[in-house]
Amino acid sequence: MALVKSARLFAQRLQNVEESSTMQVMIAAQKLKSEGVEVVDLGAGEPDFNTPENIKEAGKRAIDANFTRYTPAVGVAPLRDAILRRYREDFGVERKRDEVIATVGGKHSIFNTLLALIDPGDDVIIPAPYWVTFPQVVHLCGGRPVIVETSPEQGFSITSELIHKHMSDRTKLVILNSPCNPTGAVIAPGEFLKICQLAAEREIYVLSDECYQVFLYDGLQPSTAAAVPEHLRRWVIVSGSLSKTYAMTGWRLGYTIGPSELVSQMAKIQGHETSNPTSIAQAAGIEALTGPQDSVREMIREYERRRNFLVPALNHIPGVRCFTPQGAFYVYPDIRAFLHEGLKTSDDFAGRLLSEAHVAVTPGSGFGMDGFIRISYAAAYTALEEAVRRLANFLRSLESKR
Ligand code: PLP
Repeated sequence: MALVKSARLFAQRLQNVEESSTMQVMIAAQKLKSEGVEVVDLGAGEPDFNTPENIKEAGKRAIDANFTRYTPAVGVAPLRDAILRRYREDFGVERKRDEVIATVGGKHSIFNTLLALIDPGDDVIIPAPYWVTFPQVVHLCGGRPVIVETSPEQGFSITSELIHKHMSDRTKLVILNSPCNPTGAVIAPGEFLKICQLAAEREIYVLSDECYQVFLYDGLQPSTAAAVPEHLRRWVIVSGSLSKTYAMTGWRLGYTIGPSELVSQMAKIQGHETSNPTSIAQAAGIEALTGPQDSVREMIREYERRRNFLVPALNHIPGVRCFTPQGAFYVYPDIRAFLHEGLKTSDDFAGRLLSEAHVAVTPGSGFGMDGFIRISYAAAYTALEEAVRRLANFLRSLESKR
C-alpha cells in the first residue's frame, strides 16, 4: 500500500509569512535592467555609497593575518567593546560587555531577540507603517502582531497614549523603529521614554530598532534606548546595525544591547544557529566603530541634501502629498488621489510605474499602510531628479487616461 502523506509539506509556522515586498521590487527592477532598460531604482533600502576605505582595508588585513577562523558566537571581545565604546562616546552611556552580542546584521538581531522572547499566543505591538520584516518575524515565532496605525496627517507620529491603548495581558513586546523605515518619522524622545516606562510597569519588553539611528536631519541629535534609566533596562532592548551607518550592507554585521540575561539566551540560540558573524566582518566592524567617523557625517549631509530636494519636488506634483521626515533615507508619499477602479492598490501603482515609466519604488501595502509608496533616496541626486520628472509625466498620463 502506498504511503499517503499529508498535503502539508511545510511547517505550520510559515503559514502567515509573506515574501518581502522590498525584495520583490528589487527582482522586478533587476529583470528590466538585464533587458537593457534604464531603470531609476529607488526601491532598495541600501546606501549607494561604498564601504569607506579604512573599513575595507581592515577587512583585507584580517584575511592576510588569517583572522579567518571561528570566533566566540557572540563576537570577539574587541568588537563588543567597540560597540559599547561608540555608545559611550555618542550617548555617554555605560553598558557592560555581557549586555552586548554581535549578530549577522540587524535582521539577525531582531530575529534572535524574538526567538528568545516570543511564545505562541504572545502579542507583539507594531506601529504601522512598519518595516516589512517585523510582523513576519512575529509570525515565524508563533506570536500575533498587533498593528497600531499611525496617522499620515499627523506625520505618522507614535505616542505613548496610542501604544498604551493597545497593551493587554497578552502583550509581550513592543517594537519601535525610530527613525522609521518606511516613513522616516522620528519618535519624540519624551514619548519614547514614556512608552518604555509604561511597558516596564506591565513587564512588557520594548525592542528599539535603531538601524537608522544616525540619519537625522534639521539638527536633530541621535538618541538611544540603551540610555534609558537603570531601572528600565531590564525591559529595553536595542537592535543595531552597521549596514546603513557605515555602508556595510553586504558584510552582515549588527548587534543587540539588552539585559545580560536576554543576551545569554540569545548567545545560546546563536551558538546553535549561525555561530559567529563572519570573522572578517568583525575586524572591519571594529575599524568602523573605532576609526574616524567623517564618512558617516558626509553621508548624513548628502542624504539631507537629497531629502531637501525630493520632498518639495514631490509635493509640487498635483495630487501627491508627502510628509517631510526628519530621519532615515525614505519618503512615504500619499498616492491615494490616483487610485481608482482600474488601479486599486499601491502594488498596481508601483507595477505600472515600473513597467511604464521605469521607476522602481516599493508599494506601501507591504508596510501595512496602502495608498502610499516608499521612495528611497539612497540614490544619486541626479537619479532623484530624473525619477521626479518621470513620476510627474506618468501621473499626468494616468490622469489623461481616466
Ligand atoms: N531594521 C530596519 C528598520 C531596516 O530597514 C533594516 C534593513 O533594511 C534592518 C533592520 C536590517 O538591516 P541589516 O540586517 O542589513 O542590518
